[in-house]
Amino acid sequence: MVESKLSCIPEICRKYGGDRTRMMDILWDVQNAVGCVSPDAQDAIARELGIGRVEVQSAVSFYAFFSERSRGRFTIRLCNDIVDRMLGVDRVAQAFEEELGIGFGETTADEQFALEWASCIGMSDQAPAALVNDKVVTKLSSDSARELVRSLRATGDLSRLRFPLGSGNNSHPLVNATVSRNLRQRGAVMFCDVPSNQGLRRALAISPVEVIHVVKASRLRGRGGAGFPTGMKWEFARAAEGADRVVICNADEGEPGTFKDRVLLTEVPDLVFEGMTIAGYAIGAKTGIVYLRGEYNYLRAFLEHTLEERRKKGLLGKNILGSGFEFDIRIQLGAGAYVCGEETALISSCEGRRGDPKNRPPFPAQKGYLGLPTVVNNVETHCCVARILEKGSAWFCGFGTSASTGTKLFSVSGDCARPGVYELPLGIKLNELLTTVGAIDPVAVQVGGASGTMVPPQDFGRTLAFDDLATGGAIIVFGPERDLLQVVHAFVEFFREESCGYCTPCRVGTRLMQLEVEKILEGRGQAADLARLEELGNTIKTMSRCGLGQTAPHPVLSTLRSFRSEYERRLTPSRELSSTFDLDKALCGAEAIAGRRSTHYGNRPTSR
Ligand code: SF4
Repeated sequence: MVESKLSCIPEICRKYGGDRTRMMDILWDVQNAVGCVSPDAQDAIARELGIGRVEVQSAVSFYAFFSERSRGRFTIRLCNDIVDRMLGVDRVAQAFEEELGIGFGETTADEQFALEWASCIGMSDQAPAALVNDKVVTKLSSDSARELVRSLRATGDLSRLRFPLGSGNNSHPLVNATVSRNLRQRGAVMFCDVPSNQGLRRALAISPVEVIHVVKASRLRGRGGAGFPTGMKWEFARAAEGADRVVICNADEGEPGTFKDRVLLTEVPDLVFEGMTIAGYAIGAKTGIVYLRGEYNYLRAFLEHTLEERRKKGLLGKNILGSGFEFDIRIQLGAGAYVCGEETALISSCEGRRGDPKNRPPFPAQKGYLGLPTVVNNVETHCCVARILEKGSAWFCGFGTSASTGTKLFSVSGDCARPGVYELPLGIKLNELLTTVGAIDPVAVQVGGASGTMVPPQDFGRTLAFDDLATGGAIIVFGPERDLLQVVHAFVEFFREESCGYCTPCRVGTRLMQLEVEKILEGRGQAADLARLEELGNTIKTMSRCGLGQTAPHPVLSTLRSFRSEYERRLTPSRELSSTFDLDKALCGAEAIAGRRSTHYGNRPTSR
C-alpha cells in the first residue's frame, strides 16, 4: 500500500488516545479513510498501539464488514435471509450479477463495485433489501437493482440515488434513508405520547436502591429474548465491587426477522437514552455504551445528534438535572457479526477484540466490560424502564400477564398483508396476532427468529409470553406455498455462517446439520438420518458454549417435532446390504498388481 495512504493512521490512533480497547473505532476509521485494513495498515496500527500485529489481524478477520483487501468503491451487500429469499432476492441477485459482470464475493476490474451477501440487515419488513456502503435500499426488484448500478456508474455519488425517502424520522436530514417505519400498531408503553424525561426526573428524586425496587416490582423481563428479570440483574451489578460500573444497550438485533429496535432507535431514541440513564443511576455507573450493529450505521449521526442535544439540556454529563449524578453515553459501532448479540461476545467487541463469547461465571453483572460490573439490556428494555419510572410498577403490571408483564414489540414479516412493528400486550394469542397482521391460512409461524420455534397451525392458540412462546419479538409467517424444509435449511446455513468457530460442537455440528438437511432435501435421506439429525441437534444444544450454538439446532428440532412429515415425505426406502458381494472379485485387481494374495484376506476360503 502506498505509504501516504497510511499516514492517517497515527492521527486516527491518537484520536482514540492510543487505546487498544477502541480497536473497533480505529478499524472503522482506517477502513473509511484507506478503503481497507491491509496487512500494512495492521502493522501501522499495531505499532501505534504498542501491541502485536496478530491482535489487530484477529479483529479484522473476525468481522464481516472489515476487509484486508480493497473492495470496490461501492460495496453492495444483498440480504439473503429467509424473508428476502421468499420475496425474490434471487432475481435481484441475478440482476446485480448481470449488470456488474461479477459474482458474489467478487470485485469489478475497475474496483468500483464489490458484491457480497449479508445474513440479515434488519429490513425483513421491506425485503429484498441491501446495503450500499452504509446506505440502505429496500423493496428491490431486478429493475431497481439495475437502475441502482447504472446510476452509481453515471454519477459516482451515493447521495444521488433516486429512492424515495422513508417515513417517520427516516426522512430526518441526519438519517436520510429510504427505510419505511412500518409502525403498524402503537401501544401504551413505547409508541405513544410520552412526557419528556419524566421517568428520569422521578428516578433522580428517589434513591438508586428504590429505583431498583420499582423495576423489580414491575416484574420487567429482558426484551431481547432471554427474559432475565431486569431489576435482579441491576441488583447484582450494584452489589458487585468495581471502580466504575457500566450500562450497555444491546442494539445488535441480528436475528433474521427482527427489526423492532431499528424502529425504536429511529423514532424514540430519547426514550432509549433516558432508560439507560436511569439504569446508570440505579447501579451507580458513569459509563453508558450503545452497541449499534454495523448494519444500522445509517442511524449513527442522528443518534449522536440526539446524545449531543441531551448533553446540552443537562440530561447527560457531570451533573444531570442538578442531581450531582454523572453519566454519559457513547456509541460503539459493530461490524457485521451476529454472535455479538450475545452479551459476553458484545462485551468482547466493545473491548476491541474479536466478538468471542466468554465463559460464565463470572457473569457480566459481576465482571463485564473491562472487568467492571456491567448490565447489558436490550433497546426495548431501556424504553420500558423509562416508562415504569414515570408511571409506576403497578401501571406496567396492568398490561400483559402476571408472569409476563407489560407490552411487547413484535417484528412481523413473511406471508402477511401488513408486515411491520406491532406493540401488543404480552400474553396475546398467536392467532390474534396473525389476524391483526393479515396472515391468511399460514401453514407455520416461526416465533423468535431463526433460533426460535416453528409453530404448527394446531398450536396457533398458544400465547406469546415468557411462560409459553417466549420471543425477542421476531415473527415470520409462512403461507401454504412455502417449503418448510428449505426454510430450515436457510436457518441452519445462517448459524453455520455465523458460528464464531470457537467450540467444535457448534463449528462442526452446524456444518454436519446442514449436510444432513441437504441430503434429505435432495432425496438421499433414509429413516435413520432423522434419528441422526435429532441426536446431532441435541448434542450441539447441550455441548455448545454460548447461546448461538445452544439455539442453532432449534429450527431442526422444532420441525422434527411438529413437521416431521416434511422430512419423511422425502426419505427413500433403505436399501438392503448386498448379499452377493464377491470378495475375490473385489480383491483380484489389487492382488494381480501386487503379484500375491492379500495380507489380510489371503487365507479366505475361495468362493470358486
Ligand atoms: Fe462460538 Fe458457537 Fe461456541 Fe458460541 S457456541 S462460542 S458461537 S462456536
